[in-house]
Amino acid sequence: MNIPKRGLSARREIHIMGSDQRIVRCARVSFAKDEKIDKERDIKLISYLYKNRHSSPFEHIIITYSASWDEYVSILERANNPAINIHYSEGYIWLNFRHFVNLISLIPQEVQTLVREKLPATFAIIEDKTPQEYSTDERFLKEKYDASCGWVGLVDKLELNSKMDTYTFIVECPLFVARQWQRHRFGSYNELSRRYTSINPEFYIPKGLRSQSESNKQASIEEFLPQEISSEILNEINSIIQQSLLLYQKMLSLNTAREIARGVLPLFLKTRFYWTVPRIALDNFLSLRLHESAQSEIREFAALIKNMVGQKDLNTLMRL
Ligand SMILES: Cc1cc2nc3c(=O)[nH]c(=O)nc-3n(C[C@H](O)[C@H](O)[C@H](O)COP(=O)(O)OP(=O)(O)OC[C@H]3O[C@@H](n4cnc5c(N)ncnc54)[C@H](O)[C@@H]3O)c2cc1C
Repeated sequence: MNIPKRGLSARREIHIMGSDQRIVRCARVSFAKDEKIDKERDIKLISYLYKNRHSSPFEHIIITYSASWDEYVSILERANNPAINIHYSEGYIWLNFRHFVNLISLIPQEVQTLVREKLPATFAIIEDKTPQEYSTDERFLKEKYDASCGWVGLVDKLELNSKMDTYTFIVECPLFVARQWQRHRFGSYNELSRRYTSINPEFYIPKGLRSQSESNKQASIEEFLPQEISSEILNEINSIIQQSLLLYQKMLSLNTAREIARGVLPLFLKTRFYWTVPRIALDNFLSLRLHESAQSEIREFAALIKNMVGQKDLNTLMRL
């Protein structure tokens, strides 16, 4: 690890991934409205998130600045908050904007100044001022690839050739894939909520039905049930999905709360989430989810992600 001894004259390098709008997109995914832009409403939403401590969308903004090891340790010593996650890699301190806000009195002024420039509306809100400006994303996605059960897109990345290089993805996939994905805890997630929206439920229906593995209790094998059995079962799956959709819509039309009505939608239902993840945890995800023991649907996503951003050999750092 490169640990510089920063003198007073050394110029600090500062990098920030994200914008005011990124926070809004990660919050609006709850309503499936993350592609929408409306400056006035966006600023109100940031203020609402901040005041009501719905702060997880702030985690998708990443800040890194050159610093000495001593500066890093000094922040850790003074943080006085066991939930703080702040990292040191290749001569840089790395943290997300949520931790930044919690640690603000310990962050150097020049870093605060640049964050203020990059996130003018959000910074004004946390300083209890009226926002005058609002920063937007250059574009919604940098790259997007289809998988058989959904899609994955790269929203942004911040790369300094370190294990804390950070990536944000949007994933659309069935609920059971999302459940597997979100077991990967080193990273941040914001997901569509069927408490907020009843928008177009979409479902994944596999093309064929893989057989259960005999040797591995949780896995399938790349052998499919015979065509005539598959077609019959797939028809039944379709029909159950249609029936559950009808019941869902009936419940909503009778004013049942969305949070209850959603209970009748099967696990093939698709969801959408933002995932911001550091390289070390991304590579851990790739090595576990590219492995043949992982379910083929999530393996497909892992392969698409590897194509987009590659994989480094960081397994020795995360042996267990
Ligand atoms: C094929 C397969 C089958 C699986 N089956 C099941 C299952 O049946 N049931 C189930 O619940 N899960 C299952 N999982 C999920 C698995 O147990 C992990 O939760 C998941 O793979 C995330 O990996 P991780 O913990 O390494 O990643 P992250 O949560 O991203 O953690 C990254 C790293 O941080 C460290 N770390 C994170 N949290 C802690 C902690 N609390 N204590 C110590 N170190 C920590 C570890 O070094 C870890 O590797 C399965 C995963 C795979 C790949």
